[in-house]
Formats: sequence, C-alpha cells, structure tokens
Amino acid sequence: MKLSKKINNILPSNTVVLGQKARELISLGKDIIQLGEGEPDFNTPDHIINAALDAMNKGKTKYTNVAGTQELRKVIKKYFEDEYQLSYQEDQIVVGNGGKQLIFNALLASIDPGEEVIIPSPYWVSYPQMVSFADGTPILVTCPSNNNFKITPKLLKNHINKKTIWLILNSPGNPTGSVYSEKELIDLAKVLRDYPYINVICDDIYSKIIYDNESFVTLAQVAPDLKDRVLTVNGLSKSYAMTGWRIGYAAGNRSLINAMIKLQGQSTTNASSISQAAAVAALSGSKKFLDDWIQKYHHRRNLTFDILNRNFPKFKIKPKGAFYHFINCDCFLGKIYNSEKKINDDIDFCKYLLEYFGVSVVPGSSFGCSGYFRLCYAKSETDLKKACERINKFVSLIK
Ligand code: GLU
Repeated sequence: MKLSKKINNILPSNTVVLGQKARELISLGKDIIQLGEGEPDFNTPDHIINAALDAMNKGKTKYTNVAGTQELRKVIKKYFEDEYQLSYQEDQIVVGNGGKQLIFNALLASIDPGEEVIIPSPYWVSYPQMVSFADGTPILVTCPSNNNFKITPKLLKNHINKKTIWLILNSPGNPTGSVYSEKELIDLAKVLRDYPYINVICDDIYSKIIYDNESFVTLAQVAPDLKDRVLTVNGLSKSYAMTGWRIGYAAGNRSLINAMIKLQGQSTTNASSISQAAAVAALSGSKKFLDDWIQKYHHRRNLTFDILNRNFPKFKIKPKGAFYHFINCDCFLGKIYNSEKKINDDIDFCKYLLEYFGVSVVPGSSFGCSGYFRLCYAKSETDLKKACERINKFVSLIK
C-alpha cells in the first residue's frame, strides 16, 4: 500500500511502542517490570468510576457536542478559575481524547508549511513528530542540565525568527520532572511580549504531581496579558489515574479553539460521553486521594533516587514534579556488558536492561537527549525495589 510522505516522515512514539512491547512480553509470561510508559499504577478512584456507571445507566451513551458536554465545560471553566484564577468562557474550552489529541489538533489547525515551533529539549517524544506531521519545522532547543533542562529567556530569544509561531512549554516536564517557577515564566513572558506573532502551548498534564513544597504555576496565570496567546492544555490521565479514559481539555483563544473543534468534528467527533461524565466527577469531586498519591510518589521518588544514585554518578537531582527520573548513563556507554555485548549508546543500554534483566525504561534519545534513560516511578514499591536491584546488577556487569 502506498503511504504518504508525511506519515513516512514521522517516527512512532517510543513511549507507546515500548509500553506495548512490555505488555506483550508480560502476556507471554515474561517477568518484566514496566517502568517505561508513564502511567500511574493506582486505579481510578471509586467515585469517578461510579459516575461513569451512573452515566451509562442513565443512557448518557450518545454523541455529545464535539467540544464536550456543557456540564463538563462548565466544570472545567470553574476549575480554571478556582485553581489558576483564569477566567474563560465555555466557548473558549474544548474537550478531546487526551491532552495529546488537543496538542495535535492545535498544531494542525494553526501551522502553515515551513513555520517553526520552538521545543525545549529534552522534550516529550510526540511534540516534534506532531509538528512535522502538521508541515511545521520543529526547532529543538537544547536546554542545559545545569538549568534543570529548562529553557532560558536568552535561549528562547536566540531561536526566534520571523517563521516562529509556537513555543511548547511543558511543566512539570516529561521526561525531566523539571518545574518552571513563577519568576522563570515571567522572564520568558518578557521575551514573548516582543514577538506578538508567537503563541504558546502550555502542556500542564502533570500540574498536580508536584513535590517538596514547590508550587505549580502556568504561563497564562502569571502573564494575564498573554492569555489570548496561550493555549493551556491539561487532562485527567496522570493526576486522576485515568490514562485509558482518554480525556484532555484545552482553553485559549476563541478562534483557535473554534478551529480545533472544526477539525475534531471532522475526525473523532466528541470524546467518550461516559468518560466525560466521569471527568465531571473527577474535577468537581473530592481530591483528597491525591494527597495520599503524592505522598506515595514522593516516597517512591526518594526510594529509587537513593538506590540508583550510588551507581549513576551524574544522577544528582531529584525531580520536583511528574513521576520520572531522567538518569545520565553515559559512563556505561562504549563499555562491554558481561564480556560479550558492547553498549554503544543509551538505546543499547535500555535494550540489554530489558533483554537480560526484564526492566523496561525509555532511552533518552527518544526525548532528544542521548546518554540518558527515563524511568517512571509511578509503580509499586515492591516493583521499584526489585527493578533498582536489577539495574544495579546490570551495571555491575558492565566493564
Ligand atoms: N505520556 C506518557 C509517556 O510519556 C504515555 C505515553 C505517551 O502517550 O507518550 O510515557
């Protein structure tokens, strides 16, 4: 079958591919610890599941508005007001099948061929591929590890030109867990004010997963004059352990939101009516469970950090948000595992770790940063301890 140049020019998502591979191996009875795909091990809280059951029983099983049910958009509107003091009208909000689809739609609806999108690197695997698929040019800006992989105003300014139309910010970041402070966002906003033709996608999907008294702020909140140029994207997948329900939402400029709705109306129509009813319960209901989850993630972050940092000398910083460690493994590259296998790069490192020790992690090169690997610690303490022991054993056999 002939395929388009466009589809041939993009890469598959490595987080998704590796997640699938681990699931396949597990179904074949292999002893695999899955720390690759970023997904909470908790089940969706009961009150949210019950809301979905209730919706099904009440016949809420039909199409909804493409942009989302009125009920859900109302709740999202209130959520933005309560959490971030951001006021949007309901028609400035769209609900989609996960944050991922909304970012994709925003890029497809706004990029003309050759226009540029600035993506701080390391980045989440899908951003550059989405930009390329939308005929744009991803401009990958390497952000220094000594600035916790965050873009600085100077770096931003240096990569802007007449073709730049978007900047994508992701805080807390995947894969690094870095969190932009209020001051850092205010300083980036100062640069953006000089370029009124540049808009910003803020991917806030990990906004609730934050540690060490760090507080989460989003760009539209700290630079309200830029609100109409910012598309704030969030979703239920990570914070509410609802990855399979596929619910994301975005708020921003009305003409962009309308364009995204038009596109969605010609592709997937609405997000699942049942998941939307569950999302109403999630966003409007009690969030007490989150305190317990954050405490557990915090403990797991520290536990894995304490075990692994003895063997990875450059792994020195505990992330402030999300649920990933981004670990430098370059001291093992170019060396030999078990006197037989040369570890050429981070891809080999992750491959042998999976093949010989059954631990699935994602190579840093998938995030634009070779010499690292990403480990998701949103897993049980037992699995994490076992995985860390296996990783330590693996590296002890690299000479
Ligand atoms: N966002 C998660 C990750 O980075 C889930 C998989 C995906 O959609 O990329 O692992």
